Amino acid sequence: MRGDGKMSAVQSATSWHTRPVSAVAAEWKVDPVLGLSPEEAAQRLAQHGPNRLREGKRRSVLRMIIDQVADVMIIVLVIAAIVAGTVGAPEDAVAILAIVVLNGVLGFLQEYRADRAMRALQRMAAPNAHVRRGHVVMTVPAGDLVPGDVVLLEAGMVVPADLRLMVAWHVRMDESALTGESLPVEKSTVATVPEDAPLGDRRTMAFKGTVTTYGRGEGIVVATGMKTELGRVAALLDEADALRTPLQQRLQRFASQLAVGVVALCAAIFAIGLLRGEPPLLMFLTALSLAVAAMPEALPAVVTVSLALGARRMAARHALIRHLPAVETLGSVTYICADKTGTLTQNRMEVRAWRDSAPDVATTNAPPARILVEAMALNADATLGEEGRHRGDPTEVALVEFARLHGVDAPALARRHVRLGELPFSSERGRMTTMHDDGAGGVILLMKGAPERVAPCCRSPAAVAGESAAMGAAAMMSAANALANAGLRVMAFARRDVPKRTGPALTERTLTERTLTERTLTERTLTEQDERDFACIGLVGIADPLRPEAAAAVRECREAGIHVVMITGDHPATADAIARDLSIEAGDERTAFTGAALAQLDDEVLQQRVGKIRVYARVAPEQKIRIVRALQRRGEFVAMTGDGVNDAPALRQADIGIAMGRVGTDVAREAADMVLVDDNFATIVSAVREGRRIYDNIRKFIRYILTGNSAEIWLLFIAPLVALPLPLLPIHILWINLVTDGLPGLALAVERAERHIMQRPPRAPDESVFARGLWQHVLWVGLLMGGVALAAQAWGVRTGAHWQSMTFTVLALSQLGHALAVRSERESLFAQGVWSNPALALAVVATVALQLATLYVPALSRLFKTAPLTTRELIVCLALSSVVFVAVEIEKAMLRRGFRYGTNAS
Ligand code: ADP
Ligand code: MG
Repeated sequence: MRGDGKMSAVQSATSWHTRPVSAVAAEWKVDPVLGLSPEEAAQRLAQHGPNRLREGKRRSVLRMIIDQVADVMIIVLVIAAIVAGTVGAPEDAVAILAIVVLNGVLGFLQEYRADRAMRALQRMAAPNAHVRRGHVVMTVPAGDLVPGDVVLLEAGMVVPADLRLMVAWHVRMDESALTGESLPVEKSTVATVPEDAPLGDRRTMAFKGTVTTYGRGEGIVVATGMKTELGRVAALLDEADALRTPLQQRLQRFASQLAVGVVALCAAIFAIGLLRGEPPLLMFLTALSLAVAAMPEALPAVVTVSLALGARRMAARHALIRHLPAVETLGSVTYICADKTGTLTQNRMEVRAWRDSAPDVATTNAPPARILVEAMALNADATLGEEGRHRGDPTEVALVEFARLHGVDAPALARRHVRLGELPFSSERGRMTTMHDDGAGGVILLMKGAPERVAPCCRSPAAVAGESAAMGAAAMMSAANALANAGLRVMAFARRDVPKRTGPALTERTLTERTLTERTLTERTLTEQDERDFACIGLVGIADPLRPEAAAAVRECREAGIHVVMITGDHPATADAIARDLSIEAGDERTAFTGAALAQLDDEVLQQRVGKIRVYARVAPEQKIRIVRALQRRGEFVAMTGDGVNDAPALRQADIGIAMGRVGTDVAREAADMVLVDDNFATIVSAVREGRRIYDNIRKFIRYILTGNSAEIWLLFIAPLVALPLPLLPIHILWINLVTDGLPGLALAVERAERHIMQRPPRAPDESVFARGLWQHVLWVGLLMGGVALAAQAWGVRTGAHWQSMTFTVLALSQLGHALAVRSERESLFAQGVWSNPALALAVVATVALQLATLYVPALSRLFKTAPLTTRELIVCLALSSVVFVAVEIEKAMLRRGFRYGTNAS
């Protein structure tokens, strides 16, 4: 790689990676321990600009307008109208043009709205960064970082800017986004790096856009935004094209297939008209108007709007959609695999019980042993945040708070027993170890974690300062079981004293001044090999109350045919107790299935048994993907939650990957389809409900539009065949397309959820959008509607009435009746409430008024070539127009009584 021309082209002018931390800190005028002051940060933000990459090309407003106009059919229609205008009546042409333009404007507004909604969604998903400013750690939008900021990194974080690392405890980075190298890179704060090292070898740096996969670190921001290494490459990248959802793709395909059919039919109508001796230009305009009106090209756009607006509604309820397809597929979910901690519970940890080596706490009522409390205070990663509150992992905070309650001030103690090294907690390891100065030239090792993970590191009899503080392994395990049975999260503590250190000698300076470079000198001396010969010094039981909404949400899932599976790294007994409280339906497996048992099963056996397991305990994140796959092979549609780095593969594999917004890592978020802003299980359920509603409404829209369009085609196709004159003029057709189709169609998209939406089984994910009677409906109701309009025409022609105005009116009003009837797939309009969708009610009233205006306002009537209908004619029209409404209400009544279209699915 070295000497590669490409690499040297992207080398920074300023070689931060070769400079010592102190020099970098001096250069950016920051005290690494204090961080910048908030005022200084604000000033630098104004000076350096936001930490953002320049956005790729986006579709401009002009582009959207052009796209809208570019529709070939419309262009042809405009040209034809102009030709007709020059040879015939110019005001006809103007009217047609006006309607076409209005149509274009409506279409544009739709797209613009969709675009805005999408953009707003993207903004909401913007990442945050942890930064130390004015001595406290705070969370700020990553875009607000400035050079000199002190940024904290943890496993799972995407690096928010280019950093010179000053603390790197086992930090490993996945830099594949930047270098293409897929193996993680070990970082260090003191490595000597040659000036011209390629990016992948600059081990003292963390680069924007790369991922912290392990460990914990701190660094000084040296470059933000486009000045970062990523910024240099990003200049070459464009924002990825907006992804089309499966439904959009299918509808796009359907629309283009249908377009061919529509054009063919319109050509036939044109030919038949010519044969019957209609004026060619009029016939051409008619056929073309019909083609434009009946073309379902708006379908995909309407779906986008529905999905985007739906996503916005979900966001308002704390479910951020990252991938639009999730909105439509949420309704198909059959399994929700949810983390226990934080999703079903509140993640508000509180130490409720402890056991130490004292014979029996319950009877003695003694305070917890000092040695145990001190271990809690020292072996904890809670940092002091704003307003003097601790922040960090709730488990860790709970321990520090408990220590404080028992008279141990963690920061003060940590100053006396400086932390010299650590092996961080991960769900895989199930424990963490820290190394501290014992104040006498030796060190203390402290460990905490799941009892089974701590026990193997202990030996009895123990060698701890004060032998009496130690607990036997057997005593520890039985105490752990007792705590877990009470539904508590159990954590064991162990300690090892090493009076004479064998590593590099610690200088007096290291202990007092803690200069950053020297702190890192000792970091490598602690390895997993040191995790032995510990002595158990006690246990704690941590309560994590259930989320108040969780039990109801679990019940709602059961009614909706969705299975809830609980997954946790906690003790099986803890998991069972919580599952009982939530009344998660017991599978055939009565008790929690453990990760160890899971590891014993091969994929085939797992696939057979997975349907019966509802609670998993002591599972590692890597095992989640096996659970998802096994369920999917059984044909289930799986939503899975996750928060850590190692959850990412399972989130990607799941049909709906769900990341936690509050405790989740950036990595999990980026792998997810949806982010729960409040980490709440109930939010998933309400998103499913919303997903079902949106899909229902898309179907309603399709049902409405296609039926109306087919009615128009039937009418114009059949009339000449039964020796009736051309039923409608081009302007009538275009009007119906604009007003009658347009307004109520849009209002259907805001229809409320059907009453029993969460009491029906999930929709099959591969089910066609036309399934369950939709295409049959379009066919017969379209025919009926066309037939009714034809009947109006025939009656009018026979009796010498204003037949064309009547046909026009009946077609328009029938569609409005249809709009009201299709508001529900099953319920009658009256059960639903005529006014329960005010937008639709309003659209119908407005459309009726507009329609009457075309008849009775003289200027409009001249333009539309209509005549004011007589009372008798109007009554006939109203009677005929109500036929469709009544017929569809009868259809729904039959469906309620168990009638099914076709066999099952279609
Ligand atoms: P989950 O988040 O699914 O409840 P975790 O993997 O976070 O599971 O925790 C599993 C177990 O690991 C806990 O029951 C506890 O014993 C232990 N544990 C959790 N957090 C820590 C921590 N910060 N340090 C040490 N041990 C921990
Ligand atoms: Mg956890």
